[in-house]
Amino acid sequence: MNVLVINCGSSSLKYQLINMENEQVMAKGLAERIGIDGSRLKHEIEGRDKVVIEKEMKNHKDALKMVLDALVNEDYGAIKDMSEISAVGHRVVHGGEKFSGSVVITDEVKKALEECIDLAPLHNPPNLMGINACQEILPNVPMVGVFDTAFHQTMPKSSYLYALPYELYEKYGIRRYGFHGTSHKYVSQRAAEILGENIENLKIITCHLGNGASVAAVDGGKSVDTTMGFTPLEGLIMGTRCGDIDPAILPFLMEKENLNASDLSNLMNKKSGILGLTGISSDFRDIEDAAAAGDEKAILGLETYCKKIKKYIGAYMAEMGGVDAIVFTAGIGENSDVVRKEVCKGLERLGIEIDEEKNKVRGQERIISTENSKVKVLIVPTNEELMIARDTAALVK
Ligand code: ADP
Repeated sequence: MNVLVINCGSSSLKYQLINMENEQVMAKGLAERIGIDGSRLKHEIEGRDKVVIEKEMKNHKDALKMVLDALVNEDYGAIKDMSEISAVGHRVVHGGEKFSGSVVITDEVKKALEECIDLAPLHNPPNLMGINACQEILPNVPMVGVFDTAFHQTMPKSSYLYALPYELYEKYGIRRYGFHGTSHKYVSQRAAEILGENIENLKIITCHLGNGASVAAVDGGKSVDTTMGFTPLEGLIMGTRCGDIDPAILPFLMEKENLNASDLSNLMNKKSGILGLTGISSDFRDIEDAAAAGDEKAILGLETYCKKIKKYIGAYMAEMGGVDAIVFTAGIGENSDVVRKEVCKGLERLGIEIDEEKNKVRGQERIISTENSKVKVLIVPTNEELMIARDTAALVK
């Protein structure tokens, strides 16, 4: 059985075709600049050179047509015929409180997704465009929606309520939802497998550190708390997002700088984070290079970034009454030995000790704690696409 995994952004469409017999990626790629000048498709087959096809894509339907053409292409395709695609799995950012797991997409599900648009105005509309395009072009292929928020639906109320008037939760659904759920679920399950333990007996803290970043507390395989909240802005310092700040800063800035709601949103989402702090870049490689060259702002930025992660590790250890394993994943978590080292530094009395030699690795599954460390520290490269494909295959079987 082959599953096509689709992840649609406002002007992009990422895909992977996965053979579920061996869970190998047959082909993958990215259609970018959809609806903008210069749209192109980058398509890759395992073990062969990447092809780049430049062609106008007016919308997500055009993009999906190009993807399917590439998949069945005689020279660089992966399958002979579209009938070899048994199901499509869609990444959907926000499932609100309606979805605590993946679901087969029906008209009812689509309606529920439309109702979640208010909660994720930037993300859910392109996700829906991707679903509609697939339904038009592959009308008889079953589709599944896999939600970024679903894994966190097990959080207790005390983790997800904000101390605002309770009516606002009832009226608008203002609460913590949490994101990156597919990644936190995958890496926590994988960590248990690597450790040879039953996940039900483990308390795990997962650190997903990419452009967006979040930490989750996973107790017995269930998310019990996470740093992202009502939107993906809360919690850690990110590439361009500020994470936690005193909410009183907002009315203060509105008055002092004469900013409106959209200015503030832009400031907090696009101009803050490690970019805003250092004035250098949102890309961690640039920050690490600058810090290594002695740039004071970069050094301070790194310290501030890592301290925030450390604080949440402490908070979640207290919340779960201990921790058995800490997992690092996503672009920075998988690649930056500097960040992993700085986050774990000084935690020896809490039973967390990493081995500097083992830590010097990029993008590989590995236990990086010392033999004596009570808490295991691991790098687990995330694989959200595989998780989406597994859920899709399980639901359509
Ligand atoms: P997203 O999927 O959220 O866009 P990724 O998980 O790809 O993000 O992570 C992107 C981040 O990972 C960027 O800040 C990038 O600088 C960082 N990154 C990638 N490779 C390295 C590396 N070798 N060392 C340090 N940081 C890295």
